[in-house]
Parts: sequence; structure tokens; C-alpha cells
Amino acid sequence: MPTVFIRLTGCPLRCQYCDTAYAFSGGTLYDLETILKQVATYHTKYVTVTGGEPLAQKGCLRLLERLCELGYHVSLETSGALDIAAVDQRVSRVVDVKTPGSGEVERNRWENIPHLQVHDQLKFVICDRADYLWAKAILDQYDLWGRCELLFSPSYQQLPAGELADWILADQLPVRLQIQLHKYLWGDVEGR
Ligand code: SF4
Repeated sequence: MPTVFIRLTGCPLRCQYCDTAYAFSGGTLYDLETILKQVATYHTKYVTVTGGEPLAQKGCLRLLERLCELGYHVSLETSGALDIAAVDQRVSRVVDVKTPGSGEVERNRWENIPHLQVHDQLKFVICDRADYLWAKAILDQYDLWGRCELLFSPSYQQLPAGELADWILADQLPVRLQIQLHKYLWGDVEGR
């Protein structure tokens, strides 16, 4: 769906595959109303708040709330390292589970799991076969099958999407294969 992305600056993690390192610093300071006015110019009801790690900014929760109040379909992309409990219940939270291959597996905040709702998504970026097996084991361990939508995404230029698809098919996993569609449509361009 046509979606506006609001990218917030800053992230306390350093995943080895990160493709938004340009969002670690810099950016432009906007007040809330200016952001909302800008979003309205795109004439779509779908808004994704992302980063960096958007929850690292204290204004993020209020931004999400205001977007919901205005009737947008709001999603939040978050690293899974910060507390999601206070996020507005109307928001679809896309929560990463950092695999060993990311280099940030120790940052997973497992206390988030009880807060997941059916309209949220858990996302695993898979770097290799070991990550794939690890992800399956985590889904078993925390009994996450069917709890919310499960996304397996191949780490860009580290694992071919077709290979991951073959593994998913062989195991008949009830997960959605997610590729970074924007890179296939417009190329690997910073800021896309
Ligand atoms: S959590 Fe996301 S933005 Fe932060 S380092 Fe990892 S991939 Fe990059």
C-alpha cells in the first residue's frame, strides 16, 4: 500500500547488516504539528514510523498516538531492544528479533513478548542457515507460532531470498517471506 515513512534519527544498536546507518545522526528537527501537516500532503492513510530506532526518541509515543487519532493506519518498526508496552494499542508493531548473525542478539528484550497482539508482526532478518535454525528454535521456545504474523527476511546480499524460500517450503513454516521490495524496485539507494 502507498505508505508515508517517518524516519526518526538515532539507534542504540549496531547490527552488522544495517542499511540505515545514515539515520544514526543528523536529520532535521520538526515539531509534531509540522510532521502531521507534511504527512497529510501525501494523501494516503498508511504511515510507518521507523528509524534508526524510533522508540529511542521520547516524542515517538505521542507522534504515534496523534497519527492514530487522525485515523491513519499506523505501523511502527522497532529493533525489539526497547520496551513496546507503552505504544498505542492501535499501532501495528513490527518487532525485530535480532539473530546471532546480526551481532546484536544480546539486545533482544524478551519481556516484550507478552505484549504482542495479533495485529503485530515479529520479524527475523536471517543471515545464514544457523540464523534460520535459531529463529525456528526461538519460535518454539516462546510458543510464538500463530501469536502474530511472523516475517522471515533474508539479509540483503548475505542470503539469497530463493534459498530462504526453499528452507521455508521444505519445513512448511507458517511464516511470510519478506524481501526489501524498495531495493528491487528502485535499487540500493541510501535514504530509500
Ligand atoms: S536496529 Fe535497525 S537501525 Fe538500528 S542498527 Fe539495527 S538495523 Fe540499523
